[in-house]
Amino acid sequence: MVLKIYNTLTRKKEEFKPLRGNRVYMFVCGPTVYDYSHIGHARTYVSYDIIAKWLRRKGYTVFYLMNITDVDDKIINRAKETGRNPLDLAREFEKYFYEDMEALNIRSVNFYARASEHIPEIISQVKRLIKEDVAYETETGVYFDVTKFKDYGKLSRQNPEELKKHRIEPDPTKRNPQDFSLWKKRKGEEIYWSSPWGEGRPGWHIEDTAISERYLGQQYDIHGGALDLVFPHHEAEIAQMETLSKKKPMVKYWIHTGFLTVRGEKMAKSLGNFVTIRDALKKWSPEALRFFFATAHYRSPLDFSEKKLEQAMKSLDTLYNSLDNLLGLEERKGKEKTRQEKELLEKVNILKTDFEEAMDDDFNTPKAIACLFEISKLINTFALKNSNINSEVKREIKEVFLELGNVLGILKEKREGKKERKLVEELIGIIVDLREEARKEKNWEKADEIREKLKSIGIKLEDTPHGTKWKFS
Ligand code: AMP
Repeated sequence: MVLKIYNTLTRKKEEFKPLRGNRVYMFVCGPTVYDYSHIGHARTYVSYDIIAKWLRRKGYTVFYLMNITDVDDKIINRAKETGRNPLDLAREFEKYFYEDMEALNIRSVNFYARASEHIPEIISQVKRLIKEDVAYETETGVYFDVTKFKDYGKLSRQNPEELKKHRIEPDPTKRNPQDFSLWKKRKGEEIYWSSPWGEGRPGWHIEDTAISERYLGQQYDIHGGALDLVFPHHEAEIAQMETLSKKKPMVKYWIHTGFLTVRGEKMAKSLGNFVTIRDALKKWSPEALRFFFATAHYRSPLDFSEKKLEQAMKSLDTLYNSLDNLLGLEERKGKEKTRQEKELLEKVNILKTDFEEAMDDDFNTPKAIACLFEISKLINTFALKNSNINSEVKREIKEVFLELGNVLGILKEKREGKKERKLVEELIGIIVDLREEARKEKNWEKADEIREKLKSIGIKLEDTPHGTKWKFS
């Protein structure tokens, strides 16, 4: 089956043909590590995890590279605010990022590359860009003159007049307001490297092309990130790399994920409307989060609310109930299959093909999920009418169900976290009851102590006329 991918560069769905036979080189913009990642980031990284897994399932050998932005204004500012060394701060949040990825079952990235460990590659690119006469040095840094790259704006589809409206990195020494920095000269920051332009640090965009040139070459297959990176970040990457290589396009398929929003607004640190991945995982299982993300197409916006996640958990329960129904059927040995069993197997295999076609159609996960629910319905109907099943049929259906679930990172024979979560809930219930007894005895001191202790580990109590309610804060 042919895989089609929507390419931001051409604004078309295109047949996927890697540049180098069966090998796929894929680069996804990684996090700026100055704080905990939120579930908006998680949506993007889960989307690319599904994409990488699907490519591998189709038989491609995928090299999936992700950069770690560990040198950046945001990190430097946060380090200043907290009196820390910027690289130490970055290392700490990088560690939390990996923990979050692991918790979300994202294991498809082959290699994480830190910007700070690629300074020679960055300096080499800046030097070459100056030599090409598209970059210039001023008192504050080295900048890319965007008027010298005639394709500037091709990814974001902006003409030169529209591009002029952007005021990027305001600096009076630049030739044009749209020019972006390649190297920033040191203004007393703690983090810096020596370079032909004095002490300083790299600009954001050059970090990624330096890393991708080293590991993937000057042209490769897939580059991704969320929509906010189309301009100026990815546009700038194209200007840098295509100037250096004189080959077009730098990337064959540009993929961009839609935002996770809250009441229609992008979830963002700066807007304060975010939920960190670790807080979300206190309430919902990794599978529930992954399932929730997959209910929308990766390019569409997806609005987050607690209610929607609860709904996602319930939908996931429905799928697990069907799996339980299937596993609960008594096995009949032997080759003999009933007419009903043959029909069931046939229908499940048709749905498997439908699932695969949906994924091949620009990774249409909502459609793929609909196929899983159809399989779930078939299993339930069968289990309602039968108490036993041919053992081969059972095994085959179980395998299809679990294998397709695995594409999205959901559905396991032994459900994760469910038992643990139930235990935690029961334990909190016991503590809340003990506090209730203290309150009845008017032992307010004890009741307050319990409340404070629970609060310190992220459990918030609320005394209502109908009893005490609790939630993870
Ligand atoms: P950052 O650490 O802010 O550079 O973001 C890391 C990645 O997450 C980038 O690909 C961003 O485009 C993406 N991202 C940030 N916020 C959201 C969001 N609300 N929804 C989806 N992706 C996001």
